[in-house]
Amino acid sequence: MHRDLRISVTDRCNFRCTYCMPEEGMPWVPREEILSFEEIERLARLAVERFGFDGIRLTGGEPTVRAHLPVLVERLARLDADLSMTTNGATLRSSAADLRAAGLRRVNISLDSLQRDRFQELTRRDELDHVLEGIDAALEVGFDPVKINVVCMEGVNDDEIVDFADFGRERGVEVRFIEFMPLDGGHTWERAAVVPGERIVAIIDAVHPLLPVARNHEPAALWAYADGRGRVGVIPSVTEPFCATCDRVRLTAEGRLRACLFSLEETDLRSLLRGGADDDAVAAAMVSCVAGKWAGHGIGTVTFVQPPRTMSQIGG
Ligand code: SAM
Ligand code: SF4
Repeated sequence: MHRDLRISVTDRCNFRCTYCMPEEGMPWVPREEILSFEEIERLARLAVERFGFDGIRLTGGEPTVRAHLPVLVERLARLDADLSMTTNGATLRSSAADLRAAGLRRVNISLDSLQRDRFQELTRRDELDHVLEGIDAALEVGFDPVKINVVCMEGVNDDEIVDFADFGRERGVEVRFIEFMPLDGGHTWERAAVVPGERIVAIIDAVHPLLPVARNHEPAALWAYADGRGRVGVIPSVTEPFCATCDRVRLTAEGRLRACLFSLEETDLRSLLRGGADDDAVAAAMVSCVAGKWAGHGIGTVTFVQPPRTMSQIGG
C-alpha cells in the first residue's frame, strides 16, 4: 500500500495567492521553531523505515525559499522513497539544476492563469514569466514527470480550462485541476466557487476527446487524450471526496503531524524530538496521530469547521 508524507519545509512564501494566504501574509513561525534538516530527516526516516512510507513530498509555504534546500534533498533522497516537491516555480530557473543533482526526481508546479494580469491578481505577484521559465527549466534538467497544479475557481479562471489543456499538450506536462477547498486565508470560500471536476472533464472532452485511465492510489482522476498527446487530471476533493482511500500524512514546518488537511488537532513531534525522546516514543506518537484520523472531511455538512491553518501553513 502506498503511503505519502508531505513535509512543509517552511511556512514562508514569496507569493500571496488569494485562495491560500491573506494579502499581508501570515505571522511567520520564528526560525528557531522551524524543524532543522536533522529533525526533518529523522522523522522522514522513521516514516519510511518503520511505517513503509514510500512517497515524500516537499512543500511549504514555498519550499524553494528555504535556505540550502538541496542539502535537505540530498539527505532525503537516500531514503527508500519517491521524493518530489510542490512549488510555485518562480525561482526554479535558478534552482532546478541543483535540486535535480541533489536527487529530487519530480515536481508539481502550481499555475492558475496563463494571462499575465490575472496571474498577478491571483498571486499578488507579477511573476508569470518566471514561472513559465521555471517550467521550462524543470523539463530541461529532467524532472519526470513535471505536473502543473491548477486551482480552478468559478468566475475566476474557469474560462482557461481548455487553454490549460492545450498548454499541457504542447509542453508535454500533465495538468491537474484541483477543486478549490476551504483552506483560504480570507475565509471567503463558498461552495459556489468550486468548479466540479466532472464539469472540467466535460469541457476538455468536448474539444480534445478523453479516455479514462484506471485509478490507482492517487486522488487524481486521470484521463488520457484519445489522440495520444498525454494525460490530464482532476482532483475532486470537494465534490468526490477520496477520504476513504487517503494515504497522506502532513508534517508542518514547526513539526506538527496532521492526519488530515482539515484536522483541528495536531501531534507535536518537535517537543518530543527536542525533549530527547527515543525513536520508539516518536513512532508511537505518529501512530496515535494517524489512529485518530477521521472517516471524512465533511465539507458542506453542518458540522464542518474550517481549520485555523491556511493551506500555506499545511502544505497542500
Ligand atoms: N507554494 C507551493 C505551491 O504553491 O505549489 C507549495 C505549497 S501550496 C499550499 C500547495 C498546493 O496547494 C498548491 O498547488 C496550491 O495551488 C494548492 N492550494 C492552496 N490553497 C488551496 C485551496 N484553498 N484549495 C485548493 N488548493 C489550494
Ligand atoms: Fe504561496 Fe503556494 Fe500558498 Fe500560493 S499556494 S500563497 S505560492 S503557499
